[in-house]
Amino acid sequence: MTHSDRNSPSSRLNRRGFLQKLPAIGAAAILTHRTASTATADNPRAIPVAVPVAPADAKGSTVTIRTETTLPIFAEADICVLGGSCTGVFAAVRAARLGAKVVIVEKQNCFGGVATSSLINIWHSIFDTEKKRQIIAGLTVETMERLGKRKAVVQPKNASNWFTFNSQELKIELDEIVLENKVRPFLNTLFSEPYLDSAGQLAGVIVDGKSGRGVIKAKFFIDATGDADLCVRLGLETYVRPMLQPPTTAAHFEGFDNGAFNSLLKKHGAEFGIPDGFYWGAYLPNTQTYMLAGTRIYGADCSNAKQLSDAEINGRRQIRAMLDMLRKYNPKNRTRLTALSSYIGIRETRHVKCLFQTSDDDALYGKHFDDAIANGSYIFDQHHQDKPGITFRSLDGTQNYVRPSYPSKGGRWRPKTAQNPTFYQVSLRSIIPPRIPNLITAGRMLDAGLIAYSGIRVMVNMNQLGEAAGVAAQLSLSQNVPIQKISAAAVRDTLKKGGSAII
Ligand SMILES: Cc1cc2nc3c(=O)[nH]c(=O)nc-3n(C[C@H](O)[C@H](O)[C@H](O)COP(=O)(O)OP(=O)(O)OC[C@H]3O[C@@H](n4cnc5c(N)ncnc54)[C@H](O)[C@@H]3O)c2cc1C
Repeated sequence: MTHSDRNSPSSRLNRRGFLQKLPAIGAAAILTHRTASTATADNPRAIPVAVPVAPADAKGSTVTIRTETTLPIFAEADICVLGGSCTGVFAAVRAARLGAKVVIVEKQNCFGGVATSSLINIWHSIFDTEKKRQIIAGLTVETMERLGKRKAVVQPKNASNWFTFNSQELKIELDEIVLENKVRPFLNTLFSEPYLDSAGQLAGVIVDGKSGRGVIKAKFFIDATGDADLCVRLGLETYVRPMLQPPTTAAHFEGFDNGAFNSLLKKHGAEFGIPDGFYWGAYLPNTQTYMLAGTRIYGADCSNAKQLSDAEINGRRQIRAMLDMLRKYNPKNRTRLTALSSYIGIRETRHVKCLFQTSDDDALYGKHFDDAIANGSYIFDQHHQDKPGITFRSLDGTQNYVRPSYPSKGGRWRPKTAQNPTFYQVSLRSIIPPRIPNLITAGRMLDAGLIAYSGIRVMVNMNQLGEAAGVAAQLSLSQNVPIQKISAAAVRDTLKKGGSAII
């Protein structure tokens, strides 16, 4: 937009005009004050905006002061990806490889999301449950191969097993992948609110960063924020389950003695306020550093700002409590804390009501979809909120309730059958919200049943959702079709040509 466009009637939104436009996207919104921001020498372009904001969490805490302000335009692109985990990065890269001009917005100082900032360093198998057929490829494999060249990933001897990688090396690798693919990065940048054009259509996002507040304009948007921040602020229907899988603060330790930790935790955890739950960990490849994912914050919905803040502090408190427990009851222990995750690992918050929900039965019985965009074989792994431990459910009908230091409780969730499915699939429609023609989701906000989600949520699956979202977005733009009408066959075909395993 030029300086003169800025003052044209079509580019201005006054309060009444804005309110009239809102139904175009069905936004349940209020107007609020924004600090005025004018064009600067750095950025001569600016745009007047009226800002829709979802109601605040706390009751009676909203203010209405002013409705119009002028913001600089930070960038204009074909596709804007919000959230820069591997899901978001892979979405951006796949769209860029198809010729789109792409920007990516990430609130942390690096890409990778839970895999880097939250230190979670395992990607599960890319094979089916029989370990015979490769069901996942694309950027997951490309990234692991790149890390392999840096000795930053270990794949156990059985090639069909999981990858353990170095989260710090992954940060650098993702920087390189983003730059090589000419995706424009906006790190340390928080998406705040959507920007609607004079026709009431989603035309940009308002972001906050070190240079202040500004707008990124784009023709298409991918919400990969994990928490569906863009979708919820557009008034799309979302749901938060009453039994959310609890978040976990992970940490790096040196000298960690798993056996001693396990027995002390059972005996003395309660004394130190460490909740009974589940823990696991993994060494960073070729180091003595142990990543422990052992804390648990029950009842925290991390899409709520206060609960997120409390959970971060509680997670770090639990790490210190573990160290105190080890010091008191095992004085000879040499466990030292070397790093904390830079944000808490979040397993689940909001889901977006999409065109279709991949149901528990769809996943548990391995249903194949004509519009499948992802394949998974990771076990259904439900971290409980109402009791300690995890229930694992397998595609072969068995289940196992596991609680560290206690005997496991095996059984079946369905009777035996002669043949079992060996992988499950995710439908493209489970990541496409209704109504907004230029928006798709990618990542853990997908529309899936509780048990289905407990398996689909892992990163090798999220990566595939990202790649599919990037391809679908670019096809929607290049074919000028609303995303709700996109040809699933074309998405699958393009994914396959770009290296994905499409079945
Ligand atoms: C403790 C723990 C252990 C796990 N263990 C495993 C495991 O071993 N293997 C596995 O594969 N999976 C594991 N998972 C699951 C997996 O990590 C997540 O399901 C997956 O990371 C979800 O991916 P995502 O891209 O949707 O979300 P995230 O990884 O949460 O990424 C969201 C990204 O968006 C950014 N963002 C959010 N809001 C905004 C905003 N408003 N503006 C800009 N940026 C924003 C965030 O900073 C982040 O980078 C684990 C999860 C947890 C929490």
